[in-house]
Amino acid sequence: MNFNPPEDTIDIINGLRQFIDKVVIPLEEENSQLLYNERNYYLENGKRHPKVEELRKIVRMESAKAGFYTMFGAQELGGEELGPITSMLVQEAIGKYYANRKLIDAVVIPSPFTNGLTPVLKGLKQELKDRYLEGIRTGEKTLCFGLTEPDAGSDVWGIKTKAVKEGNEWVINGTKQWITNAPYADYCMLFAVTNPELQAKRRGGITCFFVETKSEGFNVDSVIPVMGELGGDAGIISLENLRVPEENIIGELDNGFSRAMNGINNGRLGMSGKCIGSAQWALKQAVDYANIRQTFGKKIGEHQMVQNMLAECAMDIYAARNMALHCAWKCENTKTQPTKEISMVKAFCTEMVGRVYDRAMQIHGGIGLSNELKLEAGYRHSRILRIPDGTSEIHRRTIAKSLLKGDLNFN
Ligand SMILES: Cc1cc2nc3c(=O)[nH]c(=O)nc-3n(C[C@H](O)[C@H](O)[C@H](O)COP(=O)(O)OP(=O)(O)OC[C@H]3O[C@@H](n4cnc5c(N)ncnc54)[C@H](O)[C@@H]3O)c2cc1C
Repeated sequence: MNFNPPEDTIDIINGLRQFIDKVVIPLEEENSQLLYNERNYYLENGKRHPKVEELRKIVRMESAKAGFYTMFGAQELGGEELGPITSMLVQEAIGKYYANRKLIDAVVIPSPFTNGLTPVLKGLKQELKDRYLEGIRTGEKTLCFGLTEPDAGSDVWGIKTKAVKEGNEWVINGTKQWITNAPYADYCMLFAVTNPELQAKRRGGITCFFVETKSEGFNVDSVIPVMGELGGDAGIISLENLRVPEENIIGELDNGFSRAMNGINNGRLGMSGKCIGSAQWALKQAVDYANIRQTFGKKIGEHQMVQNMLAECAMDIYAARNMALHCAWKCENTKTQPTKEISMVKAFCTEMVGRVYDRAMQIHGGIGLSNELKLEAGYRHSRILRIPDGTSEIHRRTIAKSLLKGDLNFN
């Protein structure tokens, strides 16, 4: 067993930190009134202020120039195709050193199958690749992943958005909900039912389309504000007689889900890495505070109940980090995808980071609740992560199904 991070990965992380310190942090500091005051950050309608979008675009494009934005994208799409171990460790470093900062998600996308050089784009026809990939690769243009609907989340087979063929075009009608980046995206990977009989048998019948969001019939009606924020990242989309050319089908007709699942695992590992890093940041705040804050004549770190909370955080982080590293190693070194392990890692890490933030805030007493320390922002964000990319319950369902089929392997 060798738990040392690969040399190349260490170099990438060092380079990335230099880039963030030199390019991103100064930009954040110059614009702190815009970025860290929600009344400025969001417009009345819940959308981010256009100036915020402008800053995010600058960061994306600078990151792409420096080679970071696309490093996990497939080589055939113009990326570096770095593997799951690096993905996990890079996201861990981002979470650990730059937790709860507003522009950081634009440097390396946290869920790389819903935006940027997502592997879903491998299914584009060559002509469309030639037309669209350059803008996506340089960070100028962004995407969203339109699958979930008001009546279909975990049970994705239940989507109702329909695409009906008319000549050489598909006419799409329906509603999408919870679509991350929809209010800001240039393009959407949009899922619709093309064959209801196949869909009813859960054997296919759903197709993925590449759509320009400025097309007539594609409307982002509203933004969904989340967890104490005045706005958000996810939108509700209505599709009214949206016409999409046949050539814009991504992959095969009626086989959209195989595209959707392609690359989802790397995204889940990356997200888990971010949780592990962010939890380490929160624990460091708690340890620092426990070493200076005094009550009843001694440092609070000397009270056993505070020590207990610190130790519980460390146990959680150590368990999460090692399971995620092992799982990333499995992804890189075995031919079949370790589905059960990825579900264990995604559920455990997203729950773990919530527990760690909760304790870190408790250790800080009243000041932990203030929004000055960014602990409460991390707490809110970590609570959100238990829902997208498969809820905790759906991952437990996947794990249990594997066990019941006889997979009791923990190697
Ligand atoms: C911040 C955020 C960003 C998102 N981004 C995107 C995006 O970019 N694109 C996109 O397409 N979607 C996105 N989603 C949608 C997300 O994938 C769904 O919210 C998620 O799959 C859950 O679906 P639901 O909200 O409809 O809950 P439901 O599926 O209705 O589930 C409700 C509850 O029932 C539980 N449950 C459901 N089925 C079972 C079962 N079989 N066994 C046990 N428990 C079960 C769930 O775990 C949950 O607790 C996003 C969601 C959020 C919150």
